[in-house]
Amino acid sequence: MSNLSKAIREKLGNDFSILPVALDSYQVSRDRTIKNVYRLHDGNIIEGVLIPAETRMTACVSSQAGCSLSCTFCATGRLERVRNLEAAEIVDQVVLMNDQSCEKYGFPLSNIVYMGMGEPLLNYQNVLRSIERITSPDGLGMSPQRITVSTAGISKMIHKLGDDEVKFNLALSLHAANDDKRNRIMPINEHNSLDTLADAINHFHKKTGTRVTLEFIVFNHFNDEPEDARQLTAFCRRIKAKVNLIEYNPIEGGEFQNAREDKIEVFKNYLEKNGIIVNIRRSRGKDIDAACGQLANKNKPASARMKQDPDECRDSSTGQRNN
Ligand code: SF4
Repeated sequence: MSNLSKAIREKLGNDFSILPVALDSYQVSRDRTIKNVYRLHDGNIIEGVLIPAETRMTACVSSQAGCSLSCTFCATGRLERVRNLEAAEIVDQVVLMNDQSCEKYGFPLSNIVYMGMGEPLLNYQNVLRSIERITSPDGLGMSPQRITVSTAGISKMIHKLGDDEVKFNLALSLHAANDDKRNRIMPINEHNSLDTLADAINHFHKKTGTRVTLEFIVFNHFNDEPEDARQLTAFCRRIKAKVNLIEYNPIEGGEFQNAREDKIEVFKNYLEKNGIIVNIRRSRGKDIDAACGQLANKNKPASARMKQDPDECRDSSTGQRNN
C-alpha cells in the first residue's frame, strides 16, 4: 500500500493483523459439488462445501473447528471441538466459495447454509456477526432469507434467536421425534428435550414469523417405520414446521445405513397425507465425503483430535462437551 505514508503503514502494521482463511485443497465430485479444505491462521483445518443445483448455488460453511456434540451418525462428531471460528473466518469461507463459484460455474452464491462442521448456536455471537456482514450492503448484500442456520437443538439459544428477532431461516436437525430415540443418536437431547425444543421453536416463530424446517435423516431400521412418521407428524403439528427428509451417507465404521427407498416413500406419503409440507433432499458430493455428516478432515492431518471417550468432559447442565 505504497500510496499511504510510511507512518500510516507502520501504524497499520503495529495495530492490525490480517489473518485470512486460506484454501488448502479441494475435490470436485461427479455431481459438481466441491469440498474445500481451509487452513486457518493457527493451522486448524475446517471444511466448506459448494453445492451447485439447477437454480441455486449453495455454500455450506463451518462455524467451529471440530464439534463438541458427538452425534453418533456424524463424522465431525468424532472430532474434538478445538475452537469457535471468528466471524471473519466464517465470512472468509463465504467469500472464497463465492469467488470459486463465479470462476468455475459462472455465477455467484444464491444461498448459504450453516451446516458444516460445528454447532452454530454454540458460537452464537460470531455466527450472528458473520451474517450481519454477509447481509450488509457493504458486505455481500445477500438477503437473510437466503441464509439458513442449522442447529442440533440448543433450546436456550433458539429462544434467544427469537428474542433477537433474527431474519434468517432456522433448521433443526431432529432425526427422531421421541426423546428415547433422540437421546441415543444426539446426546444434546438429554438436556434439550423435545418439549423444551417445541417451546423454544414456538417462541422463535412468534417473534420472527419464520417457520422452522425440521431436518430428518431416515435411518434403516431405526426411524423408518410408520410409528416414526406418526410421531414426526405430531411434533410438526406442535410447532407448525415443514420437513426435509435427508438421504444419509454412511460413515466409516458407523452403525447407521440409509433407509430403503420404498420406506422413505411411504414415510413421505404419510406426512403429506397429514398435511405436512415435505421435501426429500438427495445427498450431494457423496463420492468425495462432502455430504451431510461426512465432513471430518479425512484427507488431511486433522488438527482436531479424535475423541477418545464419548462421555468425557460432558457438561452436566447442557449435555455439551467442554473440550
Ligand atoms: S451433526 Fe452437527 S452438531 Fe452433531 S456432531 Fe455433527 S457437526 Fe456436530
